[in-house]
Amino acid sequence: MKRFDYYQPESLKEAYQLMEKFKGEALYVAGGTDVIVRIKQRAIEPEALISLRGLKELRGIKDNGGLTLGAGTLFRDIERYPLIAKEYPALHQAASMLANLQIRNVATVGGNLCNAAPSADSAPPLIVLGAMVVLEGPGGKRKMSLEDFFTGPGQTAKEPQEIMREIHIPEKDANTATVFLKIGRVSQDIAIANAAALVTMENKVCKRCRLAVGAVAPVPLRLKGIEEKIEGEEITDDLLQEVEKMVCDAVSPITDVRATKEYRRTVSGVLVKRAIAQAVASLEG
Ligand SMILES: Cc1cc2nc3c(=O)[nH]c(=O)nc-3n(C[C@H](O)[C@H](O)[C@H](O)COP(=O)(O)OP(=O)(O)OC[C@H]3O[C@@H](n4cnc5c(N)ncnc54)[C@H](O)[C@@H]3O)c2cc1C
Repeated sequence: MKRFDYYQPESLKEAYQLMEKFKGEALYVAGGTDVIVRIKQRAIEPEALISLRGLKELRGIKDNGGLTLGAGTLFRDIERYPLIAKEYPALHQAASMLANLQIRNVATVGGNLCNAAPSADSAPPLIVLGAMVVLEGPGGKRKMSLEDFFTGPGQTAKEPQEIMREIHIPEKDANTATVFLKIGRVSQDIAIANAAALVTMENKVCKRCRLAVGAVAPVPLRLKGIEEKIEGEEITDDLLQEVEKMVCDAVSPITDVRATKEYRRTVSGVLVKRAIAQAVASLEG
């Protein structure tokens, strides 16, 4: 393993300045559960790691009508936050299913999003919840929808010096439920496929629907065309069968060590169908 320098800046500004000094040859590190693994595999060889762990500005969960998550918030803290379990169950479910307790005690939500794996478990629930991310760098702050943040496998709209500061989730509408589902080779593994659904129901009709899938396209994918098909309709078995087929046609998975593209395609349709059905059932229950 190539030697690298390690820095622990005490402010965001110090962090950007360090990044500038290394002219793209350094990497930010939060929990290190992606970065260190990739260094050990020799997939990356940075000159330096700039740790974000000491930056208090990146930590914490704020209940402000909606929800603000510091990008450095640990999955274990998300998992244990009672309001998230009650009001944003899809995010709670994703946090609780990510890896294992040891990883969740160090892995951050910002690291999961900035790593930009198509399988990132926090992405589908945050996309259906309409999350916006705040990026901060030498040029100031900017805000964008999480959906637009992902540009390709391991690629984002973030400039190298920019740091993801926080994630905003808007206030939840009444009669709204969310569900996250995941399938992996074993529990605690990275997803073969994952999916999240949000439904808002009114008099048995779906007023609003948001759907997203992971590990079945180059980026975590929002399924806008399918959402439009569901909105204004009663959620019947026939509709769910049709949705399952539409999802299979909308995704573009690859074959890798975890699963074949055919399996991923089939299972993504099933996960979306089940997530919608479970979300509707939770409102009826
Ligand atoms: C055994 C194991 C099991 C795993 N299982 C899962 C799983 O089930 N589901 C899943 O989704 N992932 C899984 N992962 C992957 C990993 O744990 C997550 O992606 C985790 O959330 C990464 O967070 P981190 O804080 O460790 O990121 P790091 O490794 O520190 O960083 C990841 C990337 O994000 C960048 N970064 C981090 N924070 C910021 C920030 N605030 N601003 C700008 N850039 C930033 C870093 O530069 C780096 O490019 C697993 C990993 C391991 C080792």
